[in-house]
Amino acid sequence: MQIATTIEEVRTLVKSWKKEGCTVGLVPTMGYLHEGHGSLISRAREENDKVVVSIFVNPMQFGPGEDLDSYPRDLEKDSAYCESLGADLIFHPEPSEMYTEGFCSYVDMSVLTEELCGLSRPVHFRGVCTVVNKLFNIVAPDRAYFGQKDAQQLAVIRRMVEDLNMDIQIVGCPIVREEDGLAKSSRNTYLSAEERQAALVLSCAVTCGQELVAAGETDAKKIVAQMKALIEQEPMARIDYVKAVDGLTMQQIDTVKKPMLVALAVYIGKTRLIDNFIV
Ligand code: AMP
Repeated sequence: MQIATTIEEVRTLVKSWKKEGCTVGLVPTMGYLHEGHGSLISRAREENDKVVVSIFVNPMQFGPGEDLDSYPRDLEKDSAYCESLGADLIFHPEPSEMYTEGFCSYVDMSVLTEELCGLSRPVHFRGVCTVVNKLFNIVAPDRAYFGQKDAQQLAVIRRMVEDLNMDIQIVGCPIVREEDGLAKSSRNTYLSAEERQAALVLSCAVTCGQELVAAGETDAKKIVAQMKALIEQEPMARIDYVKAVDGLTMQQIDTVKKPMLVALAVYIGKTRLIDNFIV
């Protein structure tokens, strides 16, 4: 496995692979990898001749006052993990490699980004779309892998690829959870022992919502209300949002329909965690 820090190195290597007729899978990440990322890398390994993992804490997708500086980083551990999963290349650029002086081009999306996380993180998806677009241009993958954990991000990327005619297959992968149900996240490391326990309220709310749907509840507002009531029982939790939306457009819906996304963002102490389920 190789580690590249420059765009030039990645391009040279990918060109040589493509000359040999190899297919390329890309897994974009911000590093501090866990089994959630691992599931994407393994899937990419199964479906492509070559696997590229990008590790880049993208400053553009963090708003003022967010956790850009404190975001956990451990390249050594991440490299060993990627290698153990059979990745061929890690792309780990410095911000100055990705954003050269005078940078002023962005990919902006409306509608889908104006709901859910887009409301509380107004610059987030512009940063995500721009960096993912750049990574697609740099790596030129045949397939790119994203987790359902960030359901709105996955929908946004699918929309971007369709709208801008990018010749890349987007593969969505299921949420990987801890044994007790908490969705795996690099941000879970911020939680104290007490907060870690309180964080279970997110996956409990997801289970509650899923059970209501399974029992035939068709009123999306009732599902959301019951999930909120459950979260509010946890004193350490503060709800950012719990919403039922159309799974493609991210617009709020009142009646259960397919595809539906029920997504939540909840602060546990200072840590903002997300979870969701799809119907
Ligand atoms: P991040 O490093 O948090 O930007 O995540 C990189 C990719 O891994 C994104 O596509 C995430 O949706 C995905 N991912 C993160 N956590 C999980 C998880 N618990 N299960 C599945 N995919 C995940």
